Amino acid sequence: MECTDLEGFSETARDHAMRPRNHGPMKVFDGHARITGPCGDTMEFWVGASGDTVTKASFVTDGCASSLACGSMATCLAQGMRVEDAASLGQNDILDALGGFPPEVQHCALLAANTLKAACENCMVRQKASGRQSHGAQATCDTCDDTSCSAAVHKEGESEAELEERRKLQSRLCRIRHKVVVLSGKGGVGKSTVAVNLATSLMMSGKRVGLLDIDIHGPSIPTMLGLEWETIEGSDEGLLPLEMDGMKVMSLGFFLQNPDDAVIWRGPRKMGVIKQFLQDVAWGDLDYLVIDSPPGTGDEPLSLCQLIGQLDGAVIVTTPQKVAAVDVRKSISFCRQLHLPVLGVVENMSGFACPKCGEVTQILRSGGGRRMAEDMGVPFLGSIPMDPKIAEACDDGEPFIRNYSDTPTAQALRDIIIPIAALDETGAAGDITKPIKALEEIHMRIAIPLANGKLAMHFGHCECFALVDVDPKERKILKREDIDAPPHQPGLLPPWLAERGANMIIAGGMGQRAKALFAEQGVEVVVGARADTPENLVGEYLDGTLKVGENACDH
Ligand code: ADP
Repeated sequence: MECTDLEGFSETARDHAMRPRNHGPMKVFDGHARITGPCGDTMEFWVGASGDTVTKASFVTDGCASSLACGSMATCLAQGMRVEDAASLGQNDILDALGGFPPEVQHCALLAANTLKAACENCMVRQKASGRQSHGAQATCDTCDDTSCSAAVHKEGESEAELEERRKLQSRLCRIRHKVVVLSGKGGVGKSTVAVNLATSLMMSGKRVGLLDIDIHGPSIPTMLGLEWETIEGSDEGLLPLEMDGMKVMSLGFFLQNPDDAVIWRGPRKMGVIKQFLQDVAWGDLDYLVIDSPPGTGDEPLSLCQLIGQLDGAVIVTTPQKVAAVDVRKSISFCRQLHLPVLGVVENMSGFACPKCGEVTQILRSGGGRRMAEDMGVPFLGSIPMDPKIAEACDDGEPFIRNYSDTPTAQALRDIIIPIAALDETGAAGDITKPIKALEEIHMRIAIPLANGKLAMHFGHCECFALVDVDPKERKILKREDIDAPPHQPGLLPPWLAERGANMIIAGGMGQRAKALFAEQGVEVVVGARADTPENLVGEYLDGTLKVGENACDH
């Protein structure tokens, strides 16, 4: 039977086959199972439970319309049921609910029922093993019997000691439902300010929150929260984070006797310290961990993301002045290449909030953050004005959003947080089942249209293209190859360049249609660059100093 063949399906069955609800893997779950039926189709089910009730069920299948219809119906029936009852749903329950299904594919309902049953049974076993009725968070690795967990298997070339370390880290992190990293292309744009207020706001909305500061170059969270004189205590469980109104806080700053300490740590040593730190902090069960990362687009924030593994995504902070600099775009493009979902861009210090009435005046050109986010196809979370009270609150060691909650600036901050708070209800923003890639695995080939050896302003009419291979980790150019441009033909260049392995274009100007076609091919586009040699432009791109202006041609 073809996927599109819905003959013999009732209205309800068609609906479930065409618009499968709850279709897709779940990251945080309490029970999981995967079964291949006698027909060769595979189904995979996940269930999340609160107490003894199924709160969410989801599935994937490689089967066609009939499998989709049965899987979708099974998840709908299971939700809200007791786990035990969901486990006893049978083939006929699913068929009855579908109300009319061709006899030759009714075995799909049996496969769905069996897989759901196995996932519910797995949920009950895990709840029993961890001695709790789940509240949604995954059990720790020590007790979890999920054989598909990455910490359960050796990676290629990994020693026992390395596996043990990874397990330790995983057993901490898998008790945290959502991990959000706050990034910025440069320091001083308000990354830590956003991280503190994001974490505080989530905590004020009733979530169990941790705030982790690993901005190794200037851990400012202790000062921002008035905790700079506190000391950290250890327990059998590990290092105990400080608690501030229920929010757990840990910063590398608590361990630096001298602020210069961090600066003298070299690359691998730095990562070793951060890794140890991540392994040793006893967070317990959390709904959110907000991570204030080191600034920049170099290997530090990215190695950190790799270390943590499955992050829900990144919030990227910039300012109106920095929007023009390509480092924000670079942050976004690196996130994409790492498979790290971009939760959105925040434009900080956008306009000035009057200290008396709170009214925001646009003193510098702003709004660029929104345009840039639209341009790159990522969400724009909102703008925060420059507000002297924010700086005051930071200096006084008080989270602004808690102390000035009725100001327009606090409202702007709350608006930014809405999609992140919604992760708890809606799940991940992107496909977080893809592992974060290692920097070494990132292949980057940057294409630059040329005329007379320099970037050609008119993309569609250039003489040739320079294809520049770069090593993003070492930030160096590996090789350059020039190829003749094909004869001009609308819509041809995006697939033509993608076929030649380009995953980024630096251009002077480009029409909207071409940009959209490149986006379809998964190729990043940076427009507004000046006429210069490929080496200079790519060099600046890698250093984060490439400046871009207006799109030189947007028709
Ligand atoms: P980063 O983490 O990017 O280095 P910080 O969050 O430490 O930046 O902010 C740098 C300085 O700017 C801090 O003194 C902070 O109080 C101030 N600041 C950040 N955002 C604002 C804002 N919207 N209005 C006023 N001051 C701000």
